[in-house]
Amino acid sequence: VTGSPARMLGIDFSPPLRATDAQLMQRFPLGASVKLAAVYKQGPWWRDLGLQGDILAAAGTPSLPDGTPLFVQCVDHSPFSRRLGVLACFVEGKQNFHLTQLPLSEQRRLLLGFLRLSFNDSRAETYEPQVVSHNWADSPFTRGAYTGYLPPGVMSVPELWAAFKAQEKLPNVFFAGSDYHDGFGNGYIEGAIRSGQQAAALIHARLQGPRLQPA
Ligand SMILES: Cc1cc2nc3c(=O)[nH]c(=O)nc-3n(C[C@H](O)[C@H](O)[C@H](O)COP(=O)(O)OP(=O)(O)OC[C@H]3O[C@@H](n4cnc5c(N)ncnc54)[C@H](O)[C@@H]3O)c2cc1C
Repeated sequence: VTGSPARMLGIDFSPPLRATDAQLMQRFPLGASVKLAAVYKQGPWWRDLGLQGDILAAAGTPSLPDGTPLFVQCVDHSPFSRRLGVLACFVEGKQNFHLTQLPLSEQRRLLLGFLRLSFNDSRAETYEPQVVSHNWADSPFTRGAYTGYLPPGVMSVPELWAAFKAQEKLPNVFFAGSDYHDGFGNGYIEGAIRSGQQAAALIHARLQGPRLQPA
């Protein structure tokens, strides 16, 4: 079984998940990340300025009421053909919550203003890009991104940590996925693949041995 921890609690297991596993899943939130992209049909015009299109902002406008910059990181996500120019910005955590409460027209205005400021070029706005966004927390089968994380009070409790490390949650039911990988790559595609391979190996070994009989 794979899926984000938030989703595992929505699956009707029979028999139900053990108490410790259910408690672990309740202590395993996902981050809040939205990807906001400006798509320019004129192509990646910032290349004319000799700029690569990567932006890192530690301060500046627009910002939250406490001064935290709203936009922190953007990358050039244009197709290799450069037929379109795409700037993709990641907005995470409290900035995500702030941004996604705003009307789409306001999100667009803030993003394009930030791009104009970053490149010091009005084409960011006057080229009138299409702005598209995806908030993983909106997806019913995900409910957050980039990954699950364990807040304080989980790894320090031996029973919860043991539950995290056990892939077999119920007899013959194995959890697999990036979030559950115990080792290098947790939270990344590497961990997803390794976790899947490990679950497959455990299942393969089980199939070689005596089977559990259905109740
Ligand atoms: C914006 C973003 C950028 C990222 N960048 C990188 C990167 O640069 N490098 C990197 O290594 N990793 C990156 N990651 C992380 C990487 O994408 C994940 O770690 C990886 O995709 C997780 O794979 P998975 O198979 O564990 O889970 P998922 O890919 O989430 O697969 C789980 C699947 O289960 C489905 N599902 C859930 N519940 C149910 C249900 N009840 N019934 C049926 N289906 C269900 C979901 O729809 C989903 O398709 C990024 C993630 C995001 C969101």
